[in-house]
Amino acid sequence: MKRSLKNQFKAVMLAASVLIASTVPLFHSVQASAELTEKDNFARLLQHSMYFYDANMCGTGVEENTRLSWRGNCHAYDAQVPLQPMDEKSVGTNLSQAFIDQYKDVLDPDGDGCVDVAGGFHDAGDHVEFGMPENYAAATLGWGYYEFRDAYQETKQDDHIETLLRYFNDYLMKCTFLDSTGKVVAHCYQVGDGDIDHAVWQSPEVDTMARPAFFLTDEKPQVDYVTSAAASLTINYLNFKDTDPEYAEKSLTYAKALYDFAWKHISAYPVGEGDDFLKSDNDDGPKQYYLSNKWEDDFVWSAAWLYIATGNVEYLNNCLPYVDYYAPPGWAYCWNDVWSGANTLLGIIDLQHPELNLQDMYRSAQGKNQYDDADFWLQIEKAMQTWQNNYSTPQGYAFMSTWGSARYDTAMQLVSLIYDKYKNNDKPSSGSEWSKKQMEYLMGN
Ligand SMILES: [Zn+2]
Repeated sequence: MKRSLKNQFKAVMLAASVLIASTVPLFHSVQASAELTEKDNFARLLQHSMYFYDANMCGTGVEENTRLSWRGNCHAYDAQVPLQPMDEKSVGTNLSQAFIDQYKDVLDPDGDGCVDVAGGFHDAGDHVEFGMPENYAAATLGWGYYEFRDAYQETKQDDHIETLLRYFNDYLMKCTFLDSTGKVVAHCYQVGDGDIDHAVWQSPEVDTMARPAFFLTDEKPQVDYVTSAAASLTINYLNFKDTDPEYAEKSLTYAKALYDFAWKHISAYPVGEGDDFLKSDNDDGPKQYYLSNKWEDDFVWSAAWLYIATGNVEYLNNCLPYVDYYAPPGWAYCWNDVWSGANTLLGIIDLQHPELNLQDMYRSAQGKNQYDDADFWLQIEKAMQTWQNNYSTPQGYAFMSTWGSARYDTAMQLVSLIYDKYKNNDKPSSGSEWSKKQMEYLMGN
């Protein structure tokens, strides 16, 4: 009984950990049911929090997949974005005519003059599909399911989360355009324009606004988008490999292609150079809405997942020189900073594969000596302590930013629970207790 409550509680944290700047009062029905037990409330919170994604589902597959009766298909015209450089009405793509001419067969196999990038999920209060938070949400939901699948099964939420994970990852694959040799030619990382979208307040089903499509290519590789997508697809492989092997393999094939594309560009520069070329062109698509300010965290995150999925140590060799171990800990696990996630994975790999001597591999990759710190869990412990001590209200609610504070809080609950699972052998610890208290506060206590 105790274990079951704990598992359900964990699953709630995970599902809630990616709510993006939401102002929707999702928890009303939970608060209203005072006679329910704590266990019932956490189970219902898990169930209800996943509807956030049903509400934000986009494209021509919404009606087939959503569990909300009031949602319909939307932005079906994303399936027919004119394959042209963007015109003065923001119709088209960010691609040059020369690029379109060169890769027309890949981008437009049916030859209708359009490119199909329909699907995926809207951001939160708007209808744009922004790559950084979309990839982060996909990976984080997948990570929660990967770590605590039994809790979803126990509460019979596994079918729902799998629908959402497929919808996310099918879209990432659809947006990745491979040539006949399996190499990435282009990846669509954003559909819609924040300025145009934010000028309209209506339901997505009736939108007719222009929704340009933004692609990354060899000319502008933007490896933060590429590797965050690769991470999600790798987790998707792990989640489905035993139940739907063919689908899982397809996810892994795309993940590897994206990673290879990123590594081709990253490895062309010495460590610490090439940043202007490698990172996001924030002016091209995200504008002021989601400014990505680094790519190394996403790269290490994806490489660690690929090692876990394949056992190929090359992924670790490639990423260890880029680990920013001495970055000040504390910024929460979020779309723009997945260092907490990357360090957690390296800590897990170190625990489960002592034969690698990962800490020595890291020191050697970074040119450090034997006296330098290399315990990845230490970074997580520092981040958790910073969180628990430095960003709290008088009532103990931990916030990092007043804008969408619950997303950072719940994301650090996720990291704390995974820390407990591996480092504390699943015994309750201050991390679990802290997480439970935070979630109770969020539910109105
Ligand atoms: Zn839509």
